[in-house]
Amino acid sequence: MGNHELSTGLRTGMNLFDTLASMGHEEVVMCSDPSVGYRGILAVHSTKLGPALGGTRFWHYATDEDAITDALRLSRGMTYKNAVAGLPLGGGKSIIIGDNKTQNREAIFRAHGRFIESLGGRYITAEDVGTSTKDMDYVHMETAHVAGLAEKSGDPSPVTAHGVFRAVQASAHCLWGTNSLEGKTVSIQGCGNVGRHLAEELHEAGAKLIVSDIDSAKASRVAKLTGAKIVEGDAIFEAEADIFSPCALGGIINDTTIPKLKVKIVAGGANNQLLEERHGDELQRRGILYAPDYVANAGGVINVYGEVAGWDARRALDKADDIYDTVLKIFDIAESQHIPTYEAADRLAEQRLAAAR
Ligand code: NAD
Repeated sequence: MGNHELSTGLRTGMNLFDTLASMGHEEVVMCSDPSVGYRGILAVHSTKLGPALGGTRFWHYATDEDAITDALRLSRGMTYKNAVAGLPLGGGKSIIIGDNKTQNREAIFRAHGRFIESLGGRYITAEDVGTSTKDMDYVHMETAHVAGLAEKSGDPSPVTAHGVFRAVQASAHCLWGTNSLEGKTVSIQGCGNVGRHLAEELHEAGAKLIVSDIDSAKASRVAKLTGAKIVEGDAIFEAEADIFSPCALGGIINDTTIPKLKVKIVAGGANNQLLEERHGDELQRRGILYAPDYVANAGGVINVYGEVAGWDARRALDKADDIYDTVLKIFDIAESQHIPTYEAADRLAEQRLAAAR
């Protein structure tokens, strides 16, 4: 079921249980503590492979249906991401509805933590949009089922960037028969946490870089570290490069940008790169190899799992190395089944879930 269909279904009074059954959710808990102004949703999509892991999103939604739709969609996405990453984790997500700039954080996040605790470990949370490591400390006062704590695994972006680097290498291997990026040109949109670490790793591997960021200080910092050429705004889409690595926003592979691309590979860290699935079909039609976003950027969740499992930083980086093999496996499935790579990633996740059954 597509997201649009899902939200329309909910708005027109479609039976919520039918929606849960068609999307495969196990459990969705609506949580309320009016005494502190807390309204939350805990969505457990699947615990087939292990406890459901996925962050807490703190967001203001126009309607309760929009919040439920987001919780259902994001939790299902986590099942696929965790399955493809080869982690013993299911998929879940939680939502806190409200103004994420509120100062009333301790009361709200402790309420959230109490509801998470009531699931007895079936759901583990971490940061997501609108939440910070400090908020997770409040959750931690009420439950042990939380990761991404400041004094533990910390900033996941170096591990995420390393996984993206491996996805770039796998894509290069598939197209050009070599992992070497020596002399290849990579354009990177976004020089934030992931983009900067990725740029450094690509530079060490001998790649030439073209970068953009709406924050010119961040682009300059990367240029200084790596010798990258800076371009402004949307010029990044038409850069003369071999590989495009989106590391800023979602939805940037769309009807406007695809005709501008001169690259042969799209592999980056941003979430939800395809505006719609059909844009993945269009990349394939144009002979551009796409490393699916949730596979390439799984280093973040690998890092969080490492915290749950008590790994050191080295072990999380080693696990992110495996993204190389996973991406190659996905390209194989895509080729043998004549399907686009984003669909092949879903098939690989479904295979793993079916085997667990
Ligand atoms: P970040 O906020 O540190 O960096 C994003 C950068 O993109 C910022 O420097 C911002 O100025 C820039 N940017 C925003 N709009 C832009 C535009 N139109 N053109 C060029 N640059 C623009 O975030 P991050 O942690 O580096 O995450 C980057 C992406 O990767 C996000 O989509 C995030 O959801 C995804 N992701 C991150 C992690 C992680 O470990 N941090 C894990 C998985 C996925």
